[in-house]
Amino acid sequence: MHLELSDQELSWQTEWRNFATEVLAPASEEMDRTARLPDHLLASLRDRRILQPFLPVELGGQGLELFHLTLLVEELGRQSPVVAWLAAQQVVIGIRTNLACFNVPDHRDLARQAANLEAICSLAATEPEAGCDLGALTTTSRRRDDGQYEVSGGKAYVNWAGRARWLVTLTKAEGEGGQGSTMLLIRLPSPQVKIGEVHATLGMNGLEAAPVVFERQVVPASHVAGVAGFGHDLYDRMVNELRICVAAIATGLGQQVFDDAAHHAKSRKQFGRPIGSFQSLQWRFSDAALKVDAARLHVWQAVELAGAKGSCFQQAAMAKIFATEAAFWVADFGMQAMGSKAYVRPSRVERLFRDARFLKIALGTSEILRNKIAERL
Ligand SMILES: Cc1cc2nc3c(=O)[nH]c(=O)nc-3n(C[C@H](O)[C@H](O)[C@H](O)COP(=O)(O)OP(=O)(O)OC[C@H]3O[C@@H](n4cnc5c(N)ncnc54)[C@H](O)[C@@H]3O)c2cc1C
Repeated sequence: MHLELSDQELSWQTEWRNFATEVLAPASEEMDRTARLPDHLLASLRDRRILQPFLPVELGGQGLELFHLTLLVEELGRQSPVVAWLAAQQVVIGIRTNLACFNVPDHRDLARQAANLEAICSLAATEPEAGCDLGALTTTSRRRDDGQYEVSGGKAYVNWAGRARWLVTLTKAEGEGGQGSTMLLIRLPSPQVKIGEVHATLGMNGLEAAPVVFERQVVPASHVAGVAGFGHDLYDRMVNELRICVAAIATGLGQQVFDDAAHHAKSRKQFGRPIGSFQSLQWRFSDAALKVDAARLHVWQAVELAGAKGSCFQQAAMAKIFATEAAFWVADFGMQAMGSKAYVRPSRVERLFRDARFLKIALGTSEILRNKIAERL
């Protein structure tokens, strides 16, 4: 495991940090206020071809790997965890999972469209009655006599459902053996897929999460990931990568709050001296730095083991728990250190504080991941 970035990696990191500061930061307040991903921001992401390098070389990319994706989403996550989430979804679902798991005839075109953000690709797993317990899924996929599959049921929260061109969904496999679940790719728009109203949320405004209903949606057999009935392993592999990305987003969020709060503590004077000179704050700044650093190490370790073993539930889960809880701790401390200045809108720390709360819930709550880690100890 290398802990020092190469010159090339440092150069990408600088490029991504600059993009986040110049383009994401000014748009984030608008996105938070309107709870919509602004079209001009999406256009900027397309123009900068920010995800292009994550395509394999034979598809015109540079073959960047999961490690580089964590570097990218950490930088984007400093300014906008929402856009960082979009980048993670597009690369993990639209490029990596698509190319590795689906035999859709045009899957290379789909990967290119995902990289160019021409096609938003989302995850549709959670259901109204199946949140943490995905064993309780009621959305079904059934093989028809003509070999195609029919999908029926409802999903509760799907990011950018109204914009998505395809969804990867997990279903209860009817009439199949194996693990009892099938992962499928569903193309949108479709008259058999109904998209509900976008949920209003505390933070992560711009995710545009909405419910989705499949009304006997017909899906070609080529859109099944791997073998029907054996969806769980493929789903877990995809979600492990997404969890590592969420941990990296949380690291970026924590780092940015730390930087903002440290800057404030050096310049804000009370009782005739900078507030950063008070020991009670200094110790908590040290704790914050420690947590952000350790979160980044967890991310890098999880990436390393994911590469070595192909999948690594344990380290991905640990990274996600640690980094998201650290980010929330740092966001809370950052707000305390900055006082009213951070509490009053618009304030980056106030927005990131609300965003941080979501990271502990989505893609495996801290409790569920702890349960699953314990089962393996
Ligand atoms: C804005 C937003 C966007 C989202 N986007 C997506 C998306 O794009 N795709 C998608 O599929 N999902 C999405 N989700 C869903 C999200 O991933 C789920 O909310 C999450 O997985 C938890 O499910 P739940 O909310 O139903 O919680 P529940 O399963 O109802 O759990 C509630 C609480 O009980 C705890 N709990 C449950 N079981 C146990 C147990 N056995 N032991 C200990 N504690 C337990 C949980 O940890 C949690 O704290 C989104 C959610 C939101 C709010």
